[in-house]
Amino acid sequence: MSARERYRSVREELESVCEDAGRPFETVHLVAVSKTVGTDEVASAIEGGASDFGENRPEGLIEKADAFPDKRWHFIGNIQSRRIVDIVGRASLIHSLYQFKHAQKINDVAQEKGIVQDVLIEVNVSGEESKSGLNPREVVEFAQQLGELDHVRLRGLMTMAPQGDLDRAREVFEELAYLKELLCSQLDDKMAAEVDELSMGMSEDWREAVYAGATIIRVGRAIFSEEF
Ligand SMILES: *Cc1c(COP(=O)(O)O)cnc(C)c1O
Repeated sequence: MSARERYRSVREELESVCEDAGRPFETVHLVAVSKTVGTDEVASAIEGGASDFGENRPEGLIEKADAFPDKRWHFIGNIQSRRIVDIVGRASLIHSLYQFKHAQKINDVAQEKGIVQDVLIEVNVSGEESKSGLNPREVVEFAQQLGELDHVRLRGLMTMAPQGDLDRAREVFEELAYLKELLCSQLDDKMAAEVDELSMGMSEDWREAVYAGATIIRVGRAIFSEEF
């Protein structure tokens, strides 16, 4: 199967999972994570209807976003200060922010470019040491600090679930959804109204994420790998 066909089949299944979860299909955005493939495969997924892509390295983002500038590009990887200049503006949404020094740099670069950069806070819900992200207890204070930056707009939260246990993944996703409600209740009305995204769920666990309220799922292998 080609990326085009696999994208279509994930999309079709997403429609049926949304229906089963009692959620309108338009409320869940499918981001095709193209980090392991080149522009040919991206073009194939676009033929299948893909409009949103995720990259975890600045090099991949630059190459592919510049090849397909009319698509929406998401930065989902580790942020390094010196690469922020390459990410801001190219990525319509940065999913992986959890350090204030990076937020400040994003704000500076966005100001220079005359834009406002949309971001999500990455949260380490499961507490695994191997995972990056903010401790859930620190999210409210961090969000309030972001509120002081005029060129950074907080849009929601992102997490990654532990692998290999779908029940545990579902719990983690439900915790993130709860955390978003808690956060919105603590923010001023203007900020709370903008915090409406939950980025959670990958090839193996996106169904659990949709049931738990994901608005963005990030699917790589199920679209781009022959083996999955
Ligand atoms: C690679 C990656 C994905 C996609 O993972 P798959 O298991 O290939 O679907 C999603 N989110 C992040 C942050 C990733 O790095």
